[in-house]
Amino acid sequence: MSSARKPDWLKMQPPSGREFAGIRETLREHDLHTVCEEANCPNLGECWSGGAGTGSGEGGTATFMLMGEKCSRACNFCDVQTGGMDPLDPDEPENVADAIAEIGLDYVVLTSVDRDDLPDQGAGHFAETIREIKRRHPGILVEVLIPDFRGEAHLVRKIIDADPDVIAHNVETVERLQFPVRDRRAGYEQSLGVLEQIDRESDIYTKTSVMLGHGEYDHEVYQTLADCRERGVDIVTLGQYLQPSRNHLDVKRYDHPDKYETWRRVAEDELDFLYCASGPMVRSSYKAGELFVDAILR
Ligand code: SF4
Ligand code: SF4
Repeated sequence: MSSARKPDWLKMQPPSGREFAGIRETLREHDLHTVCEEANCPNLGECWSGGAGTGSGEGGTATFMLMGEKCSRACNFCDVQTGGMDPLDPDEPENVADAIAEIGLDYVVLTSVDRDDLPDQGAGHFAETIREIKRRHPGILVEVLIPDFRGEAHLVRKIIDADPDVIAHNVETVERLQFPVRDRRAGYEQSLGVLEQIDRESDIYTKTSVMLGHGEYDHEVYQTLADCRERGVDIVTLGQYLQPSRNHLDVKRYDHPDKYETWRRVAEDELDFLYCASGPMVRSSYKAGELFVDAILR
């Protein structure tokens, strides 16, 4: 089946301007990667311009990708390269902290590729990066989007102990579509278990994301939101899946922005999530700083 036709509301503005060029230069200097660039995220201009450098807490979000550009998994929606894993860069925690100071971010999102090849799946390196950022920038808010660590509780615990402000882990899609959407080592129950552990063992805010457009039914989306809420998830984002290349899964459907607004109301008003960012262009870290600060001050 071929992909559905892309509607007009998904046209993106190419990023431009001095702020964008400056941030990119800083990242290159420190040999760092962001999901924003690697995934060619449609929100790049909006997120990076935000309030970066203003200390306003209003935007200026960038998502740093830790532990290399190659992933040990192969999800069928994701454009990250699989295999040929690089050794960890021991200077990365310090480099990320340096770049944050130069760019002037007040909210930072860290994520990583999955590193099933490492004995601790990279949990220690991830935790060290959080600690280094918090040590150097005590006022900064840190959100982490973590792998499932194959559901190993002692590895999830390493992240909790590093004390970030938000821990996100994505269920990505409804239960029925976990495979073929995600790599076979991922799974719905495993991901819900990670989120539940964070809620049970800490006061850290938990967050998850669901992509729409893989052929899910409305009742399945509702069930996914309800399951996440039941496991203690505080924040949810919903966004449109976009096919990165012809080798990836087809888009089965594009939902109108009004539908996303309906899901936002269901999540916030009916299921009582702290907040829900929902829209065709929304990604896990979309305006993460701005929305989080607004929600906790509400
Ligand atoms: Fe992409 Fe994450 Fe899947 Fe790796 S585990 S292929 S980075 S979605
Ligand atoms: Fe980067 Fe996330 Fe914003 Fe996309 S939504 S530009 S990945 S911070």
